Amino acid sequence: MHLEDFYSALNVSNEYSGAGLMLGAHPWYLDGLDWLGWKDALQRNLQRIAGIGEVGLDRLWGADYSVQLEIFEKAVSLAEERKLPLNVHCVRAWKDLWEILRGRKDLRVILHAYNGSTFYVERFSLMPGVYFSLGPTVLKWPKEKRRVIQTIGLDRLLVESDWPYQAQSPRILGQVVEKIAEWKAVPKEEVAQAVEANFKDLLRR
Ligand SMILES: [Zn+2]
Repeated sequence: MHLEDFYSALNVSNEYSGAGLMLGAHPWYLDGLDWLGWKDALQRNLQRIAGIGEVGLDRLWGADYSVQLEIFEKAVSLAEERKLPLNVHCVRAWKDLWEILRGRKDLRVILHAYNGSTFYVERFSLMPGVYFSLGPTVLKWPKEKRRVIQTIGLDRLLVESDWPYQAQSPRILGQVVEKIAEWKAVPKEEVAQAVEANFKDLLRR
């Protein structure tokens, strides 16, 4: 996000004790990004920041792909150095993402709005700190994608209310949990408890 947006978000997050704020450099909005200013804002507000994100790779939209790669690699190193979770946006760039993240075993990662294949669920599950976050898009998923949900372990699952271009009420999370429970054939309470435990795990310092 742009730095002025970051500071207004910081003010909002100060008013809500339960809210955590992440600072991102989204692949759609990298043109004119002042990396040093961004890094400085992060360092000066480290105590108030829950993580770095969204950052990531998007082959469909956004800035020049080589710029995306450069900024993403810098953000990953910073997350590693500062021991902060990363919230990752990835569209059609799973191979590159895997190549960049593999082997960084201490990294905590949210694969936000996961829309990859079962192949990458299996790959990223080899990294102990990676979580797959599913949002309202799963409500529209065709039956063929059932395997993706079944392959994600309950200990790696998160849910989110983010839906492109549409503000969503957090209430939609209940429907997302129900859908996952149905496709995994487990009670929805079990899914909800797992997600809560995973968030705690992810955000611990
Ligand atoms: Zn995103």
